[in-house]
Formats: sequence, C-alpha cells, structure tokens
Amino acid sequence: MAKLYQRKMNKAEILSFFTILRDDNPHPTTELIYSTPFELLVAVLLSAQATDKGVNKATVPMFKVANTPEAIAALGVDGIKNYIKTIGLFNTKAENLYKTCQILIEKFNSVIPENRADLESLPGVGRKTANVILNTAFKQPTMAVDTHIFRVGNRTGLAPGKDVLEVEQELLKRIPKDFMLDAHHWLILLGRYICVARSPKCAACLVYNECQFKDKTA
Ligand code: SF4
Repeated sequence: MAKLYQRKMNKAEILSFFTILRDDNPHPTTELIYSTPFELLVAVLLSAQATDKGVNKATVPMFKVANTPEAIAALGVDGIKNYIKTIGLFNTKAENLYKTCQILIEKFNSVIPENRADLESLPGVGRKTANVILNTAFKQPTMAVDTHIFRVGNRTGLAPGKDVLEVEQELLKRIPKDFMLDAHHWLILLGRYICVARSPKCAACLVYNECQFKDKTA
C-alpha cells in the first residue's frame, strides 16, 4: 500500500489529536443499542457488513422478547432469522448466534467471558469482535480496528500499518494511556463522519493541524 502520510505523527501531535477529540466528545460510545454485555455481544456479532442503525433495527425488537442466551437459544435458528433477516449475511449470523448462545449456556454459565481466548472460541467472534467486547463492555484498553480505524490510522500518520493487526499494535503502542479506553470510539466516529473513505471532509476536521495526510484538502 502506498504511503498516504507525509510522516508519522509525533508524540506532541498525538497528544493534541486526542485532547481535541476528547474535548469535543468527552464520553464517546458505540452507536449500537445495548444494555448488557450479552446484548452488546449479539449486536457486534450481527454488525459485520451492516450499519449500526441496521443492527439496532433488528436487535431492539428481538431484545424485547429475548435478551439472554437461554431466551435466544429458545428462539431456534429460524426464530433468530425472523428478527435479523434485514441484516446482511443473516443466515450465517443466525447459525453463529444460536451456537454461541448454546456454548455460553453450557460452558460459561451464561456469563460473557472477560478474556480474549474464551471470547474468540465463540462461533462468529473474531479478534475485532473480542476487542470491542473487552473495550466497551469490560473497559479493557483494547483496540478493535475496523475499516474506518484502519483508514484513519494510515492516512493521518497516527498508526500506519499494512494490515489491521499492524495498525492495532501501532495504536496500542502510540496512544497515550489516558486516552486508550475511549480512543476506539473517537477514531471510529472520526472515520465514519469526517475522515470518510472518499473525499474526507478536511475543512471541517478538528484534527486538521495534527493530521499528516499528504492529500489533505483545504
Ligand atoms: S484532516 Fe482530512 S485526512 Fe486528516 S483526519 Fe481530518 S478529514 Fe482525515
């Protein structure tokens, strides 16, 4: 991948970058609607190649009827499909969700595990999903790199890397401790609404001065 940034952001720029994002939005959070770690796990499991809004449309009615591993398992795969059929890849996601609920009941006493290895043992839960759960539900300083964060990390010179794992490791290394817990959400929101894939809105960007993207627009 060609280098998109002039140079890596330095420590002072990184500090300023996150201070600005924090001042603008002191309590950032996910746009997925959830009220328990289990609901968050379900929402994140369903969110691959879907928008948060699309996921919420399906999960809000489903959670009214079923929001525990037992209740969702009781819906059966077809019952789950009925709730989530508006979401992409719903057939596979319904199967994974059903199996995940069964494993949670049988192996984890219906409690969401708070460690990566156990989370990643659940069907449909990969490194990114585990990172979101650990960070958002359990307040661990992990970094789930999605397409938005990957783009922002590479464009700005904050945490360049050839793949998501490299960007994740760079972010963990370079983000100051005080910002680590919320950094995931600030970066996603920046990428989703301002530093968008085509024609980033640089003129409206709060971190314009810190960003090292070669092709910043005025
Ligand atoms: S200045 Fe432009 S390229 Fe840099 S972070 Fe902001 S929107 Fe993205």
